[in-house]
Amino acid sequence: MESLPSFATLAPTEPDRAALQAAYAAATTLAADPATPPSEAVQAWEAACRPARQWQSWTRLRFHQDTSDPARRDGRKRADVLEGELKKLDDTLLEALLARADRAALDDAVSPAVTARWAATRAGYSPAIADDLLAEEELAAEYIALKAAARIDFRGTEHSLVTLAKETVAADRGTREAAERARWSWFDANRGTLDDQFDRLVALRDGMAKTLGLPDFVALGYLRMQRIDYGRADVAKFREQVRTRLVPLADRLMRERAADMDVELRLWDEAIPGKKGPTPLVCGMDGLGDAGIGAFDRLDPAISAFYRELYGQGWMDLGARPGKAGGGFCTWMHDVRSPYVFCSGNGSSSDAKTLVHEVGHAFQCWSSREAPVSTCVFPTYESAEIHSMGLEHLAWPVLDAFFGERADDFRRDHLVRGLRFIPYGVAVDHFQHLVYENPTATPAERHAMWAELERTYMPWRHYGDLPHVSDGGYWQIQRHIYARPFYYIDYTLAQTCALQLWASSLTDHAGTMERYHALCQKGGTLPFQALCASGGLTSPFADGCLDAVVTGAEEWLASH
Ligand code: ZN
Repeated sequence: MESLPSFATLAPTEPDRAALQAAYAAATTLAADPATPPSEAVQAWEAACRPARQWQSWTRLRFHQDTSDPARRDGRKRADVLEGELKKLDDTLLEALLARADRAALDDAVSPAVTARWAATRAGYSPAIADDLLAEEELAAEYIALKAAARIDFRGTEHSLVTLAKETVAADRGTREAAERARWSWFDANRGTLDDQFDRLVALRDGMAKTLGLPDFVALGYLRMQRIDYGRADVAKFREQVRTRLVPLADRLMRERAADMDVELRLWDEAIPGKKGPTPLVCGMDGLGDAGIGAFDRLDPAISAFYRELYGQGWMDLGARPGKAGGGFCTWMHDVRSPYVFCSGNGSSSDAKTLVHEVGHAFQCWSSREAPVSTCVFPTYESAEIHSMGLEHLAWPVLDAFFGERADDFRRDHLVRGLRFIPYGVAVDHFQHLVYENPTATPAERHAMWAELERTYMPWRHYGDLPHVSDGGYWQIQRHIYARPFYYIDYTLAQTCALQLWASSLTDHAGTMERYHALCQKGGTLPFQALCASGGLTSPFADGCLDAVVTGAEEWLASH
């Protein structure tokens, strides 16, 4: 495979605004010129935006690597400002490009799905809502800052919500319960602020939708997510399948866990896989990257070559450090056209899962790197997560590289979590439909909506007498609801597809890996349901989408 430069040699500079605007103006002129083939205009656009986008990705990555460094914090703010500028420049260019009479030639150059996604982006934007968009970002940032500033005393030690979360999965049950009590007491004390922030977000978002002439924010949310081949009726149908087909299985599995631990199931038991407890990461955090080599070498030659290059040239940052942000993500350096994998592992079993997940995203982007425009490299979110969650499941045969002889314990937990996640994710999405279809509901009415959804989708859930959550407040911990509206059903749709790949891999691993490669190479050039069809997957909106998954899971769990 093509070799990468050492990541350390990358030093992008902030784009000169006059040059950026001139390059965009030239590309926009080409886009508006009927004598210029659309592919040339698209190339000029790419040439204009790639260096700017790479600086933006690099600057945001550097901030995540050390959030305490004032220079990097300042860089991140400048990258956000650039985002607003690029949005406007892109919108003007897209207006010219999409107005062309030779639309078929444009479709040929970049794929009809990509032009449809651009059209959706334009339909969800207007300079008339530019100020509202900024206000929305500020409100979302207020929510994130409120949670980040939380200081909670727990057994004599000051905790953040992040460090306290570790205590909620402690081996000792009493510690877990006490940590949950401390966590939700903080939410309870801040309920008024959290309600008020969300109230203002709902009003703002509903107002933007109406300004754009849309019936409600659900419609705008779908446009923003570039959902070009399914709508809210399809999602409602998927919900129904989850409720009837998956909820009973998830409920039984959760109750079996409780029986294995000999407890009455409470919130603080849900993350514990049973009396054996979490599976230790035998390679340790320091050995995680090398263990990845051992795993991917045995899994697949192309992924192995890619991983060795990425890892060898420093395009990965795996361990947690003071000041480094949590979580995992895969970002893209547009000029070099390579992904970068960021994780923040602390030595727990989920670090291996996060590594494989992000490598799945990275490998898909790499597989699409020759695409004519960046939009073709990145699928929409529900599709992108098939590649990451899919690789998690396809990597099952080589998980002993991370977990040694207890790999089966991890596999069981991974499967149960994957199944149980779907009803939760559907509840998060259903909640947002109810909220934005009823924008004048009171905070108390919203909490009641959530409580009702929990009873429908998570009948196993029991909060004991914990504050806040007993009264319908759990949703307020879910960042997406505040900061990334309608970005959630995506994970459940992708997980449904990833579990279909898993079920198929149990009897034909080699054939399923081939299908996985083909899916990765499609990149962002197909809409979600067409991508499913191309990979032999049943669309989550079709009848029976969960049948093979539920049957496969029941059989595997019964025999392991
Ligand atoms: Zn992901």
